[in-house]
Amino acid sequence: EAKRAGGARHVVFERALRERAERRADIESQLRLALAEEQLFVVYQPVVGLNPNGSTDHSAGVEALVRWQHPTRGLVPPFDFIGVAEECGLIDQIGDFVLERACTDFMRWQAVLGLDAPRLMAVNLSRAQLAQPDWTAKVAATLARTRMPPACLQLEVTESLAAQDEHIQLRLHELKALGIKLALDDFGTGYSSLSSLHLLPVDTVKIDRSFVCKADTSHHHRVLIEATVKVAQSLGMNTVAEGIETAAQLDAVRAQHCAKGQGYLFSRPVVSDALVDWIREQRAA
Ligand code: C2E
Ligand code: MG
Ligand code: MG
Ligand code: MG
Repeated sequence: EAKRAGGARHVVFERALRERAERRADIESQLRLALAEEQLFVVYQPVVGLNPNGSTDHSAGVEALVRWQHPTRGLVPPFDFIGVAEECGLIDQIGDFVLERACTDFMRWQAVLGLDAPRLMAVNLSRAQLAQPDWTAKVAATLARTRMPPACLQLEVTESLAAQDEHIQLRLHELKALGIKLALDDFGTGYSSLSSLHLLPVDTVKIDRSFVCKADTSHHHRVLIEATVKVAQSLGMNTVAEGIETAAQLDAVRAQHCAKGQGYLFSRPVVSDALVDWIREQRAA
């Protein structure tokens, strides 16, 4: 009986594996088409400054986030294709596209918004991108082509990636030498910890949404945010609270002296023109 059940489970497992592989192959071929037919685009979410006097700086920066407008499936979130793109090597092309687009839009905002334009552009990086031997030169070329000042670009890596190996560490130091800023994304969810923060060449720590969403209701999460901000500050690093959705969460992270915030409370990620409108509205208000 047990053996039969085990056999049945085995069959179910095999089928699940096969279906998963087929789904991946399907996404991969559709993603190649998406790149060729320009179905990918970039949206921007404001990152606001949480000034100590209680005011909000709406031009502190933005984060670029990739989107896929699929002809039949509609809008596909990055969660559903970044992993596949990393596995099949398409992430290099996607990453190049996002970086070029982000720098171009950033420079256009300087022209249309002047002093109100965002001062920092954050772009997410995958491990495979950093592993490219010519990555640093490629970034330098994109900056030169778009006339983007290196200090206005912030590249975001996750803890596990940044801590991983010497090769990656070398890349990060090369990027720093170009004058680019580095941020540690989703802090609190990975392998590294507060005690190893000083080992990473990052300028900013982004506190993961899973902590921020409990900042107002859980003492434990509040203490962790407080500790992160304190250690980051003592190392001369900036802090960003990710995923602020409510005024109560905002009050809680402000009380912990977090320097910047990002979340639906301020704005969802929006296309370039809508970001310009949003900044103008905030100015007028
Ligand atoms: P991330 O870098 O941590 O980006 C923040 C994510 O949180 C975004 O999800 C954003 O839409 C979402 N978010 C922001 N505020 C809120 C909020 O108040 N509530 C909730 N529930 N969510 C909020 P998104 O755009 O789906 O991206 C997910 C992840 O995909 C990103 O996480 C990033 O790791 C990755 N990703 C996005 N674009 C790129 C890209 O161009 N390249 C690479 N390599 N990864 C990317
Ligand atoms: Mg990010
Ligand atoms: Mg990220
Ligand atoms: Mg994050």
